[in-house]
Amino acid sequence: MANAQANIGVVGMAVMGSNLARNLASREGNTVAIFNRSFSKTQSVLDAHPEAGFIAAHDYKEFADSLQKPRAAIIMVKAGGPTDAVIEELVKVFEPGDIIVDGGNALFTDTIRREKAVRETGINFVGAGISGGEEGALLGPSIMPGGSDAAWEKLGPIFRSIAAIAEGEPCVTHVGHDGAGHFVKMVHNGIEYADMQLIAEAYDLIRRGTGKSPAEIAEIFAEWNKGELESYLIEITAEVLRQVDAKTGKPLVDVIVDQAGAKGTGAWTVQTALDLGIPVSGIAEAVFARSLSSKPAQRAAASALPGPDEAFVVADPEAFVEDVRQALYASKIIAYSQGFDEIVAGAEQYGWDIKKGEIAKIWRGGCIIRARFLNRITEAYAENPGLVALVTASFFAEVVTSTQAAWRRVVVAAAQAGIPSPAFSSSLAYYDGLRADRLPAALVQGQRDFFGAHTYKRVDAEGTFHTLWSGDRTEIEAEDTH
Ligand code: NAP
Repeated sequence: MANAQANIGVVGMAVMGSNLARNLASREGNTVAIFNRSFSKTQSVLDAHPEAGFIAAHDYKEFADSLQKPRAAIIMVKAGGPTDAVIEELVKVFEPGDIIVDGGNALFTDTIRREKAVRETGINFVGAGISGGEEGALLGPSIMPGGSDAAWEKLGPIFRSIAAIAEGEPCVTHVGHDGAGHFVKMVHNGIEYADMQLIAEAYDLIRRGTGKSPAEIAEIFAEWNKGELESYLIEITAEVLRQVDAKTGKPLVDVIVDQAGAKGTGAWTVQTALDLGIPVSGIAEAVFARSLSSKPAQRAAASALPGPDEAFVVADPEAFVEDVRQALYASKIIAYSQGFDEIVAGAEQYGWDIKKGEIAKIWRGGCIIRARFLNRITEAYAENPGLVALVTASFFAEVVTSTQAAWRRVVVAAAQAGIPSPAFSSSLAYYDGLRADRLPAALVQGQRDFFGAHTYKRVDAEGTFHTLWSGDRTEIEAEDTH
């Protein structure tokens, strides 16, 4: 029987789990127990990283015995059934007071279900979103834990020790109870989808509008990364565009098949937003743009359909590039604004006390959407915790005020040129919808009342009304249905 030497354990020795275990082991005071379903993976990790001083277990019992009480273990296995399978085994060998953390990409409703079930055994269950990919797991991710306050008390110092550091602060906070952490991680991924799509649209417009090469556009992105758009995604975009294919000598981006894959967290964000009634149109367009790209038969069938008659020629390439930069900035603000709206709605629906400013803070480092302007989001929520729409906070309102003319020019140019820009244009439509004095929703309500007697409200009276649309139709009556 193993001595209980380890203060933390990791189950799952694929890339994320092994990197997270190495990260944990590299921090002072940690001894890490590791376990993987098939021991060969554990052995490879032991062989490759003797410096980590891992305590390897062959089965769940040995794993539990190697952990100091109260035990804490982080599961990093395939999301879904495999995570349930591991939890089931851990519950058999753990004791009340111990902590099971799921660090995988779980659907937050699964986390709520698991937390409820595990809590009944007296064991704590924490769903923790972990962002930053393999490098983040190894060097410092952004961590979004949910779960109970008691579990956070024990986990807080451990998570703080391995998280990314942004401006001196570790990128981790106790997001809220049960599924709150995975909910916020899901929205993080949704925003990531939108951000990536917006950057891709910016690239496409510049390339097709100015004829610049990917390498030249890489320089533009590198320049943008020195200013207000500074972010991990802009930085890596420059690197991707700079890359030359060793086989053909062409820009690598030109030899990559133009069909974007997805693992599902973007779709979850949109599905959840639909359930909550939150318009995350930029995120939805990004998810749909990937779906459209991955329909080769439909795209081939439609490829002969006509586009605009005139070729797309940009009169002033430099001015156009600057317009695209501003459109990107404005649209990006909308994507974040929509994402935070979803977090607010989720918190309300599920009873989580989520500090929006803290979420922006822990996204400043380690994660894929880390960006300079996240500080502005923190400030906006600090200034006004009840902010109803992020885009209305003074800093962001000033940005959209100063960029909207360029934003409109870009969307018009894209439409006239026949270049798809779903994320740019839907973000602008959302912005215009939000700021409109009056929307054609009034007509929609009239239609709904016509065919389904769904009733409507009047601008000049309290109550709910229904018009008798049938009959001779000249006589329109409204009646108070209350
Ligand atoms: P993965 O490919 O998602 O999963 C492989 C791991 O799952 C292996 O350790 C495998 O064990 C284990 N596993 C599969 N079925 C199992 C079962 N029924 N019982 C026990 N173990 C089982 O690994 P990953 O890419 O390292 O990701 C781990 C988690 O982190 C996932 O939830 C993923 O969504 C999340 N995540 C990944 C990234 C990323 O960039 N990759 C970023 C953030 C979050 P065997 O070796 O025995 O097959």
